[in-house]
Amino acid sequence: MSSIAENLHRVRARIAEATLRAGRAEGAVTLVAVSKFHPAEAVAEALAAGQAVFGENRVQEAAGKFPALRPDHPALRLHIIGALQTNKARDAVRVADVIESLDRPKLAAALAEGMARESRRPRVLVQVNTGREPQKAGILPEALDDFVAECREAGGLPVAGLMCIPPADTDPNPHFALLAEAARRLRLDILSMGMSGDFEAAIAHGATHVRVGTAIFGHRPVL
Ligand SMILES: *Cc1c(COP(=O)(O)O)cnc(C)c1O
Repeated sequence: MSSIAENLHRVRARIAEATLRAGRAEGAVTLVAVSKFHPAEAVAEALAAGQAVFGENRVQEAAGKFPALRPDHPALRLHIIGALQTNKARDAVRVADVIESLDRPKLAAALAEGMARESRRPRVLVQVNTGREPQKAGILPEALDDFVAECREAGGLPVAGLMCIPPADTDPNPHFALLAEAARRLRLDILSMGMSGDFEAAIAHGATHVRVGTAIFGHRPVL
């Protein structure tokens, strides 16, 4: 087995254990393998090991790696998880199956327009700035309900869930709890939370998708 295959095996086992421990149904949690900054060969290794769902931060990088893999891997699903410029929205709609980083009204409008032009409707998650960090993207918790309503009604966007990235070096549990509560309140099915360092805690709080990079692909090359 390649080291990526071994890592995937270990991460999947940890996800299964955490899911069981939380009293949740087997298979309730989807692993999004975050392949940003890693080459297409690393993605191919993960695909060969049965991984179908991937996450990328940058639309351009994703567009360079994934379309060529799709014909041979019909189950492949790509999530865009990074900050998205308005002028990349249409490209994101073209390449992604899920866009996890909707964080402002202008982007909502650009995504709606991109979907109309491309005749493609990837599901959208709203990123929430649970830690109220000024440098971090995301809708503030108190503005979330109105924003989701606007996106759904005026924008006609297929909003399916919420995503958060808790502040570094703090206990992520209150952030996961906040996001889970908001998803319940808004009747949204997808909860994308938890990364290499904290995905088990996220699963305990109800994560349906965990975004794991380093624990699968190793450390990213520093750019
Ligand atoms: C890079 C990234 C991840 C993966 O982080 P790891 O700590 O490497 O698992 C998850 N989510 C987002 C939004 C990221 O940018």
